[in-house]
Amino acid sequence: MSRIAYVNGRYLPHRRASVHVEDRGFQFADAVYEVIAVRGGALIDEELHLKRLHRSLGELRIAAPMSDAALKSVIREVLRRNGVADGALYLQISRGAARRDFPFPPGIEPTLVVTAQRRRGPSTKQVEEGVGVVTLPDIRWRRPDIKSVALLPNLLGKQQAREAGAFEAWLVDRDGNVTEGTSSNAWIVTAAGEVVTRQADTSILNGVTRLGLIGLLAREGLTLVERPFSVAEAKTAREAFLTSSTNFILPVVTIDGAPIGNGYPGSVVRRLRQAYEGHVAAQGAA
Ligand code: PMP
Repeated sequence: MSRIAYVNGRYLPHRRASVHVEDRGFQFADAVYEVIAVRGGALIDEELHLKRLHRSLGELRIAAPMSDAALKSVIREVLRRNGVADGALYLQISRGAARRDFPFPPGIEPTLVVTAQRRRGPSTKQVEEGVGVVTLPDIRWRRPDIKSVALLPNLLGKQQAREAGAFEAWLVDRDGNVTEGTSSNAWIVTAAGEVVTRQADTSILNGVTRLGLIGLLAREGLTLVERPFSVAEAKTAREAFLTSSTNFILPVVTIDGAPIGNGYPGSVVRRLRQAYEGHVAAQGAA
């Protein structure tokens, strides 16, 4: 099945799908996006993604290109035309195309692009054995809570992680505390068994997976603490893990090459992965 992309009202062959050279997403990263996991044909936590999309649009004063009902039908049509039942749905909205100038151009229409990808989640090895992270200074702007496509620091960090043989980079603020990963939220489990993740202020993206997992913790009898944690605390934590829509929950077993605990995924993260998979399965036909 050949890939189809939705661009501003049209379903186009992926190879020929494009936006204008003066699109402000291309010129200035004046755009926001969402990535939604698709499992068993279902969009996982779609409402939370749309809620976050509206928040990002509102913070940047970009107009919504259409109603949520219309957007949902475009999303479903892109999944259908691409035959994607398990994978990821990508959507991007830019302020639109106009003669290059910094101030918001009056009267322009936002650009909407929707694509879908068949993709596997993490490998069984990554789930069962865990992954490594390295720590890097968080050099992003001070509004990473807005899901904008301005991702240069994120991709530079991810590249540095990969070159160091790690899966992800955890970004560290000026106080030595972990903010989040380049494309995931960061968590630890303390010796007392508390599950700790940074509070969702303007210093992190409030992950939809993060929110979904928070909803499951009480049922699992686990205590959540939303506060900053330092790299030193993470390195001596009982367990560590990361969350994102494309990976759900992955154990982190090394930080900067040093093993967490005994270097194997712990019982809390294994339990949470299972609980989260239940949360996903409950939404899909899978
Ligand atoms: N933080 C950042 C910087 C991200 O890019 C992502 C993934 N979009 C996340 C956290 C995780 O968010 P979600 O669970 O909504 O995928």
